[in-house]
Amino acid sequence: MAFPVAQEAEALFTNMDLLLFSLIIGIVIYWFMSRKKPEPIPEFKKIDTPAPTSRETSFIEKMKKTGKNIIVFYGSQTGTAEEFSNRLSKDAQRYGMKGMAADPEEYDMGELSRLSEINNSLAIFCMATYGEGDPTDNAQDFYDWLQENDDEDLTGLNYTVFSLGNKTYEHYNAMGKYVDKRLEELGAKRIFDLGLGDDDGNLEEDFVSWREQFWPAVCEHFGVEALGDESSIRQYELKEFTDINMNKVFTGEIGRLKSFEVQKPPFDSKNPFMAPVTVNRRLNKAGDRHLMHLELDITGSKIRYESGDHVAVFPTNDSALVNKLGQVLGVDLDLVISLNNLDEESNKKHPFPCPTTYRTALTHYLDISHPPRTNVLYELAQYASDPKDQENMRKMASSSPEGKALYQSWVLESCRNILAILEDMPSLKPPIDHLCELLPRLQARYYSIASSSKVHPNSIHICAVVVEYQTKTGRVNKGVATNWLKNKLVTDNGHKATVPMYIRKSQFRLPFKASNPVIMIGPGTGIAPFMGFIQERGWLKEQGKDVGETVLYYGCRHKMEDYLYQEELEEAEQKVVITQLNVAFSRDQEHKVYVQHLLKNNKENLWKLIHLENAHIYVCGDARNMAKDVQTALHEIAEELGDMTRTQATDYIKKLMTKGRYSQDVWS
Ligand code: NAP
Repeated sequence: MAFPVAQEAEALFTNMDLLLFSLIIGIVIYWFMSRKKPEPIPEFKKIDTPAPTSRETSFIEKMKKTGKNIIVFYGSQTGTAEEFSNRLSKDAQRYGMKGMAADPEEYDMGELSRLSEINNSLAIFCMATYGEGDPTDNAQDFYDWLQENDDEDLTGLNYTVFSLGNKTYEHYNAMGKYVDKRLEELGAKRIFDLGLGDDDGNLEEDFVSWREQFWPAVCEHFGVEALGDESSIRQYELKEFTDINMNKVFTGEIGRLKSFEVQKPPFDSKNPFMAPVTVNRRLNKAGDRHLMHLELDITGSKIRYESGDHVAVFPTNDSALVNKLGQVLGVDLDLVISLNNLDEESNKKHPFPCPTTYRTALTHYLDISHPPRTNVLYELAQYASDPKDQENMRKMASSSPEGKALYQSWVLESCRNILAILEDMPSLKPPIDHLCELLPRLQARYYSIASSSKVHPNSIHICAVVVEYQTKTGRVNKGVATNWLKNKLVTDNGHKATVPMYIRKSQFRLPFKASNPVIMIGPGTGIAPFMGFIQERGWLKEQGKDVGETVLYYGCRHKMEDYLYQEELEEAEQKVVITQLNVAFSRDQEHKVYVQHLLKNNKENLWKLIHLENAHIYVCGDARNMAKDVQTALHEIAEELGDMTRTQATDYIKKLMTKGRYSQDVWS
C-alpha cells in the first residue's frame, strides 16, 4: 500500500514542481515587462561651470593636484564652523601657503595618515559641538571613525583644533576637545593649542584671538613668514546676465533647480518639503507678545517623525529689509548674477545657488539680520571713503583691546545688522557682489515638534514665540523665522502658504516601556515637545497599554495671559493622561514662582518616581537659567532624600543622564 501512495505523491510533486516553475517564470517575465522605467531625476545643471563627473573623495589627491598644503575640516551645524574654516583657508595665502576648507562628510578621512606625503602640510579642525555634546551631522562619520580605529597611526600628521561651543550647555565644547585629544592619542602632532570658542560669551572674539596667535605659531613651525599683503582676496568672480532663460534661475531653492515646484521625496536638508500651513493661531489670551501654534501638513510627503524630533524650516528675510539694502547700495536687485569660485577645483562652485538675482540671494540665501562678523568688516573697510570709518572697521577686526571693545559695543551690543552699519556709516559703499560673497548663509531654524505622529501622522505642530525687540540704536529688530512664520497665514490669496521643511531626528525620546513614569519640565515654549509626549501617552492608553505616571511641570507668567494649551492640558488631566499637572505662574503673586519651586514642593513624590520607579526626566526650554536651576533643584532633592553628599548627588544625576533617563532639549 505504501508504494502506490508514494508513487502518487511523487507524480503530484512533479506536477506541482512544473506548475510552480512556470508560475515563477511567468511572474519574472511579467515583472520585467510591466516594470515602470525609473522616473528620471532632473539633473541639477550648472550653467557656467561644467559639473564634475564624479565627486573626488580623496582630499590627498585633490591637495596634490591643486598644490594645497593646508586643509581645514569643519564640523558645522549652523554654518559658523564652516565660515571659520573658509577664513582660515583664505588666511593661508598671506603666508605663502595654500589652504582648502573641507567637509569631512565628503572625504575619506582614513587618508589623514597620508597627509605627511605633502610637504609642510597641516590639518586644521573647526569643530562645533551640537546638542548634548554631540558631533554635528556632517562630522558624525568622522567621529565614529575616530572612536573605532584604535590602530590608526597618525604619526607625521600636523594638526590643530578650534572648537565651537556654548558654556550654558553641560558638555561644553565636547567635540573639539575629543578630536584634539584623540588625534594626539593616535600619534598626530599638535602644532598649536586647542582653541575654545564660547558662543555664550563672544565666539568671534575667541576665534580672532586664537587665530592671531595661531598663524605666528604656524610660521615658526614651518619656517615661513607673512607676505605682508593684507589686501582682501576675492574668492568668487561676478558674472551678470542680461539675457537668460528665467527657468534656469534659482528662486530660493536649497538644492535642485525648481525643486520647490516639482517636489520629489525623500525630503531632507538639501531637498525640503513645501508643507502647507493649515493652522496658525495665537496661543496667548493677552499680553504684548505673540505666542503661536502652527500646523504643517505633510500629507503625501512620506515624511515620518517621532515625538521629540525637531522640524527644520528655511525662513526668508523680511522684504522691507531687502528693499532697504538695495536702496542703500543703489543697485537693481532684480539683476541676474552668478558668483563663480575662482578656484575651479573647489567643490563649492558658488557661495549660494547660482544663477540667481540679488533679491533672491538677499531674501533666501544670505543672513542679513545678525551682526556681521569681524572679517566682513575688515574686507568691507576698503569701500569706506571716510578714513575714520576705514580705521574703525579695521580696528574692530583686530585683536587689540580697543578694537574688541568697539566691536562689542558698536556692533554686538547695539545689535547692528549690515543695513544698520551701512546706514550709520554713510561713507561705506561696498559693491553688492562683494557683500554677497562675504555674508554668511541664512540657516534653517529648528523647532521641537509639538505633536505626536501616532495621533497626527500627517501634520507637524510648532509652538513658538515671535521675537521682536528694540536695539540700543532705537531700531526694532525682528526675529527672522518667527516673524516669517507669523505671516504664514492659512489662506494667502486663496492659496495655502507653504513652509520649506524637513525633519531632524533627536535623542529626546519617550521611554521604550510605556509603563515607566515620565517627569516633564518645560516652562514657556519649552512645553512644545511635551504636547507630543502627552498626545502619545494618551494614544498608548487608548490602545490599552499600561502607561506609567505622566507628570508635567509647566510655567508661565500669568494664568489669564500666557497659559499655553490650557484647555488641552486640563482635558488630558481629566482623562488621567497627565497624572499630575503642576503649573507655576511666575507673576501672579508678589514673589516669583518657578517650576523648580514646585519640584521642591513635591520632592517626596518626585524622589520616589526617580529613585524607586525608574522615572525618565525631560527638561525643555531656556538653557541659560531654567535648565540649570532645575538641575540644581534635583541635586538638592537627591542630596536630601537620598541622603547623599553634594558630589554624590551630582554623580547620581550625571548617571541618569548617561543612562538616558535625564534628557534635555534646551536652547540659549
Ligand atoms: P517665557 O514666557 O519668557 O518664560 C516662561 C516662564 O519661565 C515664565 O513664567 C518665566 O518667569 C519663567 N522663568 C524665567 N526664568 C526662569 C528660571 N530661571 N527658571 C524657571 N523658570 C523661569 O518663556 P518663552 O518666551 O517661551 O522663552 C523661554 C526661554 O527660551 C527664554 O529665555 C527665551 O529667550 C528662550 N527661547 C529661545 C529660543 C531660541 O530659539 N533660541 C526660542 C524661544 C525661546 P518670569 O519671566 O516671570 O521671570
